[in-house]
Amino acid sequence: RVSAANSPSSSGEIIENVVIIGSGPAGYTAAIYAARANLKPVVFEGYQMGGVPGGQLMTTTEVENFPGFPEGITGPDLMERMRKQAERWGAELYPEDVESLSVKTAPFTVQSSERKVKCHSIIYATGATAKRLGLPREEEFWSRGISACAICDGASPLFKGQVLAVVGGGDTATEEALYLTKYARHVHLLVRRGQLRASKAMQDRVINNPNITVHYNTETVDVLSNTKGQMSGILLRRLDTGEETELEAKGLFYGIGHSPNSQLLEGQVELDSSGYVLVREGSSNTSVEGVFAAGDVQDHEWRQAVTAAGSGCIAALSAERYLTSNN
Ligand code: FAD
Repeated sequence: RVSAANSPSSSGEIIENVVIIGSGPAGYTAAIYAARANLKPVVFEGYQMGGVPGGQLMTTTEVENFPGFPEGITGPDLMERMRKQAERWGAELYPEDVESLSVKTAPFTVQSSERKVKCHSIIYATGATAKRLGLPREEEFWSRGISACAICDGASPLFKGQVLAVVGGGDTATEEALYLTKYARHVHLLVRRGQLRASKAMQDRVINNPNITVHYNTETVDVLSNTKGQMSGILLRRLDTGEETELEAKGLFYGIGHSPNSQLLEGQVELDSSGYVLVREGSSNTSVEGVFAAGDVQDHEWRQAVTAAGSGCIAALSAERYLTSNN
């Protein structure tokens, strides 16, 4: 099966070795490895974000922490390089959304907006979406003051040495706030409720940190700008009194969680209570044999390009092993 890509079934229909769903670092890395293993992978790149493949990094400017680029590289450049590398080794790329799939019986079926494909294995790498607040000026300041990733952006010149704010009261927000204290002059944590939801240990670390001020019962209303059009502050509203105040800040980090794009697997593959695909520890194996998951859709903890790429590699090698052992 491995060497005979596009193998015809007894009824004469074509059955692909592996279908990869997603075109972020996980999907393209899986495509590179699967193509080099001569599996002739079919990749559905997705058509969300205005038809642009490449995943979340298409929405950012500089990526400073992907190995191999000491001067940094823009998100779109990095993703274009990965795409070309997958194409060079023979991955078949379709810029289409998968609309449904069935993994109840083998061979599996994947239905995109344009075609139906049968396959022996699937690598599911559809990523996750950072939850947004929907502030009136959010689009204008996304990546220019508003960020959803402290590890990615905290050290950037835009934020280093500045007063910053993090919105949220759970583990993600408290972790982001603590992380940002390494670079920021001061960090404000903006919490809607009257208390933090984070674990007790994280709460203690935040409350005892002199570089963090926690604002409870506080709603984030919008970001403010100076005459040069740069972000200069945040408009806040006290939920108990209705009073509005302006907080000086050069950056606003969202720590309100992510939504994994796992809808297509609901009811077919085991997901955790937040919708992340459950994989066997240290592997990319899901609860269904022959279905592998990689990247942010199965990772609620690290969510980095390099970890997504690493898990894409594991998924492709696991798919190859699965196909060989079922040959
Ligand atoms: P994604 O990159 O989310 O890609 C998922 C892909 O799946 C997309 O192409 C999407 O179109 C596709 N897809 C979804 N549904 C379907 C469907 N039904 N059919 C077909 N395709 C589908 N990480 C770093 O390491 N360094 C950084 O500097 C950094 N900066 C960031 C900046 C921003 C603004 C954001 C949002 C994230 C940043 N990250 C950074 C995190 C990093 O982008 C993610 O960890 C990484 O992209 C996850 O890769 P992935 O392949 O799992 O998923």
